[in-house]
Amino acid sequence: MNHLIDQLLTGKDAAAPFAEVPGNPTRFYTYGDAAEISGRYAARLIELGVKPGDRVAVQVPKSIEALMLYLAVVRAGGVFLPLNTAYTPSEVSYFVGDAEPVLVFCDPKDEAAIRPIAEENGARIETLGVSTGPGDTAGSFLAGLSDGLSLGADVPRGPDDLAAILYTSGTTGRSKGAMLSHDNLASNSATLVGHWRFTPSDVLIHALPIYHTHGLFVATNTVMISGASIIFLPKFDAKEVISLMPRATALMGVPTFYVRLIAEPELGEASKSMRLFVSGSAPLLAETHDRFREITGMAILERYGMTETNMNTSNPYDGDRRAGTVGFPLPGVELRIVDPEASELKILPQGEIGMIQVRGPNVFKGYWRMPEKTAEELAADGWFTTGDLGKVDEREYVHIVGRGKDLIISGGFNVYPKEVESVIDELPGVDESAVIGVPHPDFGEGVIAVVVPRAGETLDAATIEAALKDKLARFKQPKLIEFVDSLPRNTMGKVQKNVLREKHAGAFK
Ligand code: ATP
Ligand code: MG
Repeated sequence: MNHLIDQLLTGKDAAAPFAEVPGNPTRFYTYGDAAEISGRYAARLIELGVKPGDRVAVQVPKSIEALMLYLAVVRAGGVFLPLNTAYTPSEVSYFVGDAEPVLVFCDPKDEAAIRPIAEENGARIETLGVSTGPGDTAGSFLAGLSDGLSLGADVPRGPDDLAAILYTSGTTGRSKGAMLSHDNLASNSATLVGHWRFTPSDVLIHALPIYHTHGLFVATNTVMISGASIIFLPKFDAKEVISLMPRATALMGVPTFYVRLIAEPELGEASKSMRLFVSGSAPLLAETHDRFREITGMAILERYGMTETNMNTSNPYDGDRRAGTVGFPLPGVELRIVDPEASELKILPQGEIGMIQVRGPNVFKGYWRMPEKTAEELAADGWFTTGDLGKVDEREYVHIVGRGKDLIISGGFNVYPKEVESVIDELPGVDESAVIGVPHPDFGEGVIAVVVPRAGETLDAATIEAALKDKLARFKQPKLIEFVDSLPRNTMGKVQKNVLREKHAGAFK
């Protein structure tokens, strides 16, 4: 048995559609094709020396071949280690040094920069790009596949064996390698299939990157376990996604997808055949949720997860999908709110804000080669400290208030950035905002608001200050307001507050 593959591929109807890849020409793949191609790739990986437990690092452009490579690494018994395509060679060098893969895959155009990094670390290099036309094999890996190559049987792997190491997004500090087992992935995706009602007749528009848990596991594994199919796009383009909606049933996206979709006049008409829109990876503004519902008559389903745990909570499929909440713990996932300051475990009552902890079959095996960090955050009894602050309301919905690291303590009082941001975002002429704390000689930390005005509007600090006076306690009011055209975001749409904190570090000195 190969625990994950048994659920993703084995026993599927070979003739059933798996993927449509729009292009010139558009390509179609069945589940039989996926099994055959990933099997051939797996046989080649074994030929190249991949043994059970070996890491295979992959920094390649999004393509159906790259997705087949993920399956192939798992089928060969290896550990799939995808890397963000935006990482520079010096960043890749850190990850390769840390993870010690036996094989490093890169884009053919990056080979000159990545080859020395692979070689320094004793790894072999292979390239995999996107084919530019007939006769182009798009790199050494496909060119090296000999005729008649096929995998006899999947390399056996059990539920607790590692299937992947995914580095976290690095929003709060250096990225950490999260070790994910076959069953971490399989069990969570099986839960999502049931919870979000995926069936073989679903067609998911796949426009997320596949180096991150959202596009790689949430989207792809859920589709495969249910026997549904995907329309596989190289990237998100609002107009293209809308043009595909009449043939699709579901979309998974980060909040920015939805911000862009609601700006397109065709959304209302095109979305009629869709049954599910999922959002996650960063907070969805209530305003976006409301506007989307006005246009389409459908409520976006927001869920909460992270690299280390896959998905933890989800708004309900039937029932109220409430803006500004991430719903309830998924079946099999336990969630509690604890006092982050208490030296002994103190579980907080409903309604109080504290640190979110989760436990369940979805929770990872620890951080790769970081035993101390693992011990700090993953307790022996299985509870994982997420680093996110939140609360559970009177209807049991979970609310994320922000990151523990973003909490501001000003004059001894806790300031939750999200509370201040929500008030600022409501003001006329404001598009969005980010609230941070930086060192302050009197207060420990001082509150700063970075505000993005709506297009075409001009705002001034005095007006905002005056508007906040009656709405927020004095210690929560920003001591400095800055206006910018846009907030710094990483590729998953997460606001990089560390970048803002660095920029304003000297503001009160
Ligand atoms: P790092 O751990 O390296 O600082 P990261 O936490 O951003 O980076 P990911 O694992 O990609 O890396 O992101 C998980 C985090 O994303 C969660 O801990 C949470 O803060 C945030 N998140 C995910 N979904 C939601 C959501 N629906 N609402 C608010 N925040 C969310
Ligand atoms: Mg994190």
